[in-house]
Amino acid sequence: MNATCPICGGAEFTTGPNGRLSPDGTLPRCTGCRSLERHRAYRTVFDALGPDRFGDRTVLQFSPDPVVEPTWFKAHDVSEYGTDTQLDLQAIDRPDAAVDIVVVNHVLEHVEDDEAALRELDRVVKDDGFVFLSVPDPARIPATRHYGRAREDKHGHWRVYGPDILTRISATLPHAKIVAIEPADPVTGAPDRAYLITRSGAVADDATARLAAAGIGASLHGRTA
Ligand SMILES: [Zn+2]
Repeated sequence: MNATCPICGGAEFTTGPNGRLSPDGTLPRCTGCRSLERHRAYRTVFDALGPDRFGDRTVLQFSPDPVVEPTWFKAHDVSEYGTDTQLDLQAIDRPDAAVDIVVVNHVLEHVEDDEAALRELDRVVKDDGFVFLSVPDPARIPATRHYGRAREDKHGHWRVYGPDILTRISATLPHAKIVAIEPADPVTGAPDRAYLITRSGAVADDATARLAAAGIGASLHGRTA
């Protein structure tokens, strides 16, 4: 692959955490914005959904990362672990339908009760909004493994998700429409997965169509409208 960073336009890359390389043997971290493969893969999703359509929308981001630009939104609220902004994903200190869009990348695996977290995410988002959810690449193993505790030797993760996370989301939120997304990092080609969760059939259909038009794999699951 030979592309510039879709987040900052940078073309210089360096090694990732602990000196690692990308699966294709190239350098994963952008020296401009510090993004890794997943950030750029998820950014292509937001680019397809249309930053120009977010100007009247509010966003709540769990754990700051370069996937979205705060300036795209009318308001940007962030929960950052270890600071006074930190929110408990299992009991989010926000009213019902408080925000249009929730972005929650690589956080769900850190909470003990992920079903409570999914219900909370669904609660705080508006009817015509959506939750953008990702966990460490769930395509890597056949099925979710629950540790029953936060494993210190596994970055504090309670579990490692497999592709059945989709079943877990739909079982926990039976009313939800879920767009399963398969983006790839344009720099390294590394594939990933993410999920757009919404109560709105129109939002789900629109997202599926926009992602398909951008050449990003997207399939709609859950109850039809
Ligand atoms: Zn960059």
